[in-house]
Formats: sequence, C-alpha cells, structure tokens
Amino acid sequence: MYQVEAALKTQKIRVLNYFTIILFPIISIATVIGVPLFGYLYGYTWLDWTLFGILYVATGLGITVGYHRLISHRSFTCSTPVKIALLIAGGCALENSALKWCADHVRHHAKVDQEEDPYNAKKGFWYSHVLWIFLKDPYADDKYTALFNKDKWVLWQHRYYLPIVISGLALPFLIGFLYSGWIGGFGAFMLAGMGRTFVVLNSTFCINSICHIWGKQPSGALNSSRDSWWISLITFGEGYHNYHHNHPRDWRNGPKWYNFDPSKWLIFSLFLVGLAKPVL
Ligand SMILES: [Zn+2]
Ligand SMILES: [Zn+2]
Repeated sequence: MYQVEAALKTQKIRVLNYFTIILFPIISIATVIGVPLFGYLYGYTWLDWTLFGILYVATGLGITVGYHRLISHRSFTCSTPVKIALLIAGGCALENSALKWCADHVRHHAKVDQEEDPYNAKKGFWYSHVLWIFLKDPYADDKYTALFNKDKWVLWQHRYYLPIVISGLALPFLIGFLYSGWIGGFGAFMLAGMGRTFVVLNSTFCINSICHIWGKQPSGALNSSRDSWWISLITFGEGYHNYHHNHPRDWRNGPKWYNFDPSKWLIFSLFLVGLAKPVL
C-alpha cells in the first residue's frame, strides 16, 4: 500500500483523500441541515451565540495571525505564550497542523497559479475553494516542511493536533452542558462547534478562491491574486490578497490605516504591550 502511494506520488497522480471526503460533508450537512433544525426544535441560547462568536474570532485569528502571518511568513516574532495560544487557536479551526498548513501555504506563494500550487485558482473557483482538499497532493514537498520542522512549538502542535481539534469541539459542548444539561451541550456543540468550524473553513477557502478570481490588482498583475475588501470583513483582514502576494513579509495585509484588517490590529496591539516585535 505504502509502495503504491509512493509510486503515485512519483508519477504526480492525484488520488482521492477518503478522510476529507467523509469528514467535510459531515461538517457541512451538520451545519446546513443540523444547525437550523436544532434551532427550530429547541432554539439557541445567548450562551450558544456568544460561544460561536468567541470561537469564530479566536480560531479565525489563530489562522490569520498565527498560522499565516507569524509561522508561514515570519512577519513578526512574539513571546512563547502568545505563540502557543495562537497555535492552539489555529489548530481548533480544523485546517491541518501548522506544519502542514504553512508548508502548503509557502508552496502556494512560490508556485502560485502553477500545477504545484496546492489550491491553484487557474483550475477554477470550486477547485481552489474546496475541491482541492478531497485529493492527496503529489506535489507536497519536504523542502517546504523543512522550513518549519525545527520550530519546537510547531512540532509540538503537530504532535498534539488531534487532541487540540477535539478540545475545540468538546469545549462548547462542555460549557453548554454545564449551563443547561444535554440539550444545552448539544446546542452549543452544533452552533459553536460544527457551525463555527464550517464558517471559519469557508472564510479561509474564500481567500484561495475569490481573492484569486475577483477584485482589483493595485499592487501588480504578475499573478492571479486580488484585493477584495469585503472578503476582509469575514477573514480578519486577509482579503487584501494582492498586496499580500506582493509584500508577503509585511505583518499587515491591509496597509492603509482605514483598511479593515483586525489581524493587523491584534499584532499592533501585541507590539504596544511588548509581547511581539516586527521583523522588518
Ligand atoms: Zn494567494
Ligand atoms: Zn501568505
């Protein structure tokens, strides 16, 4: 089996990834059908919505500030507790460990719009948005992983990725359960666990699809990246993707003061209190 996989990788053949083919539809169906159905039958409490909001912001920023701007692009440095918090929050978004996510992301920048680009927008909206996750990537390359596998906290998060993901789903259930029993636990799990995971996944996916198809290119048209201010509203500032592709080491994605970039505001706040430093 292992030899077959190695041969397919050598021949650059994309085979189905049954794990994601099963997992993603479960999350999608739970969100699109289960979440409204539970709301209709039992209703959601203020606590369910609060947990949804907190976990949406925390896990979203874990990806944008942690996985993306801190680990992938090393646009700033920060204290170890902040780094651990960002790695845990990012892990709860169910977008792979930072080791894998960041290796994929650096390859996206290096090979943008080419066959080796993991979420190549030249293959169309749906491929770059979500279909790419259903295929094993024969172009995954250890040379990109090697950029991150000397970081002990990235390796720690990779090792404990599964318990981190489970904690992110168990936490809303536990809080809801303590508040109002089994129904409370299940309601919080549906909204702040399943629903929140689906929304954060799709907001990240929008960067790879929408921000490579529609929008302006004020920083240059050397690749398909686009600026889309309205995508920034749901992705904590990552919609200024054309600027980002042209200035990947900048801790800001929206460089102007009025650009909606909450990730930049969080990083700047960390600078102010001495918990982080800019690199450039
Ligand atoms: Zn991109
Ligand atoms: Zn990037």
